[in-house]
Amino acid sequence: MSDISLIREKAMERANYSCEWAYCTDSRWLELAHIQAIGMGGSPKRKFDINNVAILCKHHHDIYDGRQRVGNSVAYRELLMGFLKRERTTKE
Ligand SMILES: [Zn+2]
Repeated sequence: MSDISLIREKAMERANYSCEWAYCTDSRWLELAHIQAIGMGGSPKRKFDINNVAILCKHHHDIYDGRQRVGNSVAYRELLMGFLKRERTTKE
């Protein structure tokens, strides 16, 4: 088993095998996201740091990495609400 799959397994366990984005309960298409980008060449320190990774579904990984603009405002609002620990009060 490579180091990265070890980290992935630990992160998956911590995330209870579902997306860690606020309010997202997706348990399919999970990916290992790096909170601080590992950059060109990939800093091993950041790459294999359990505190620098999160489990995100593909949708939220794409949003986090800025590859996907659709749904951004809604997704970021939910993320902020999650951090603020407030209940969702508005409906789309
Ligand atoms: Zn998600």
